[in-house]
Amino acid sequence: MSAANAQCTMCHGELEDGYIAHWSNNGRTAINWSGGSPKARFFGKGLRSGGTQDRTLSALRCVNCGHVEFFAN
Ligand SMILES: [Zn+2]
Repeated sequence: MSAANAQCTMCHGELEDGYIAHWSNNGRTAINWSGGSPKARFFGKGLRSGGTQDRTLSALRCVNCGHVEFFAN
């Protein structure tokens, strides 16, 4: 989703493009949306990849009120 055609659902203000960043040993990455329910790994840390699809998560921020809306593209 791009902010080009989107309006804030709270105040109808202009949205600006953005994303949620995650810092890891590999540097800064964008957070993805995953389908399905989160399931813990039997060994190790984190979650198993059990979702049917992963999509880039956009976080559009309203320049007027600061409301953030998420879109899984
Ligand atoms: Zn707004």
